[in-house]
Amino acid sequence: MHNLIIMGPPGAGKGTQSEKIVAAYNIPHISTGDMFREAISKKTELGTKAESYIKSGALVPDEITIGLVKERLSMDDCKNGYLLDGFPRTILQAEALRDLTKEIGREVTLVINLVCDYESLAGRISQRRVCPKCGASYHLVTKKPEVEGICDNCKTPLIQREDDTMEALKTRLNAYEMKTKPLIEFYEKENLIKNIDGLQSIDDVFSDIKKALEGK
Ligand code: AMP
Repeated sequence: MHNLIIMGPPGAGKGTQSEKIVAAYNIPHISTGDMFREAISKKTELGTKAESYIKSGALVPDEITIGLVKERLSMDDCKNGYLLDGFPRTILQAEALRDLTKEIGREVTLVINLVCDYESLAGRISQRRVCPKCGASYHLVTKKPEVEGICDNCKTPLIQREDDTMEALKTRLNAYEMKTKPLIEFYEKENLIKNIDGLQSIDDVFSDIKKALEGK
């Protein structure tokens, strides 16, 4: 059973590797960032609540985020595994996740931690382009779309994320450092973490992830 979390600082490659993992292992991709962005574009109540936090690069409050994940993880399609991407991001979220998954018998089996030095992140973030429709992400140099500026999957014109500015990145890195990084120790204690060098090529990172999963 693959009940997985992928973590790492913004720009470490979580979205890119998530696409590969869910395709290879046929499990749902639960990205809180994607869920928030979808809610914002649909102008739902959740979107209205989350929008200002996301734009500035701050974390959305725990009670909103935890409620969203609780609902999603309890759905039927998560019974044979899942991949959480971008959640948990705080100790409180990790504790809530531990309680919830225990309660519903879907406990986390592995935490993939993509390790990247901060210097390489700014370049990756500024060259990132995303599809506003299907959420696929590209990089102007290392992961180009087949046709410039167009999503390979759904042919939608690509955009730059609103929080992929250097100013929002500073806030996001600060949130990562203060609130998310302590989760590494949390999951080390639970013996669940696998550190993977996120600075390798996309294929090499994925190959390391597969090895980690097959060792499970
Ligand atoms: P991501 O797509 O994972 O980079 O997330 C984009 C933004 O969504 C983050 O900078 C936060 O503002 C918000 N967000 C996503 N996941 C969480 C979370 N688990 N807790 C709080 N805020 C989150």
